[in-house]
Amino acid sequence: MAGKDYYSILGVKREAGEREIKQAYRRLARKYHPDINPGDKSAEARFKQINEAYEILSDKEKRRKYDQFGDQWQYADQFAQAGWQQTPFWNFSQAGGTQRFHFEEADLGSLFDNLFRSGTRSRRARPRRGQDVDYPVEVTLEEAYHGTKRTIALRSEEPCSSCQGTGRIQNMPCSVCRGSGVVSAVRRLEVKIPPGVKEGSRVRIAGKGKQSYAGGAGGDLYLVVSVKPHRRFERRGDDLYEEVAVPLTLAVLGGEVQVPTLKGKLALKIPPETQNGRAFRLAGQGMPRLGDSAYGDLLAKVSIILPTKLSEEEKKLFERLSQLRSNS
Ligand SMILES: [Zn+2]
Repeated sequence: MAGKDYYSILGVKREAGEREIKQAYRRLARKYHPDINPGDKSAEARFKQINEAYEILSDKEKRRKYDQFGDQWQYADQFAQAGWQQTPFWNFSQAGGTQRFHFEEADLGSLFDNLFRSGTRSRRARPRRGQDVDYPVEVTLEEAYHGTKRTIALRSEEPCSSCQGTGRIQNMPCSVCRGSGVVSAVRRLEVKIPPGVKEGSRVRIAGKGKQSYAGGAGGDLYLVVSVKPHRRFERRGDDLYEEVAVPLTLAVLGGEVQVPTLKGKLALKIPPETQNGRAFRLAGQGMPRLGDSAYGDLLAKVSIILPTKLSEEEKKLFERLSQLRSNS
């Protein structure tokens, strides 16, 4: 295997100082960064070489060994061989035999901030808040009314707990995550959905989103609610609308009908000569207001049912009624 010249990879002389090496590294890392060259395999390979070179040349001890042994230097210390190939910032991980980059954040700026502000000796990411995560949840209108619970499964890549996401334990590659600092995990979580959620409501579960690397706070989990349509009730804001069947005679003479609500049936008084389509407002019988003790109203719209299958006697009565109405 041909020896790698880390100095020429970074484009510096062998006697270059720490500062010069760091500057060269910064410049090249920016230029060949995978985020700037998406899908460019040669840039990606170059980027890895640059990181590898910097990993060695920025470390006094490794640089000394490299200067002494050349590309045989890693045999001087077996642990170093496995160690330097892993760069915690980029979280190289082996997946299906190919090297893959993981970026916790699309925010290149902060990635560089983390990278370049940290000293050459300390190669750890500074604490950073984990990402927020959206999780869709579908509920029935009844569930939206009473509130409900769900057990959800979140699959995510999380910082390895053995090495706190650094990829290393006492300068050795972590065996649990194979130095990547990342493990794939499924978290089961019981979550509460409060009464009053609507289509598109976002229920925040603090700290249950993506976990942070290097000890920062976890991101938040947002349950993104969708409410199934109901066969009986239509919801507009916190109010509910429904149609109530009222027999013709009851609408004419007045009386009482049973009105279904989300809490059970209610008796509604219908005054005499109630017209078809009239709506009655049942205050406080609508949906609960999210995060509040107030309720919307229920609007019950009268739908008059005309009689069918009339008996001879009923038919005569309608005929009589018809005569009276036309005479008046
Ligand atoms: Zn680990």
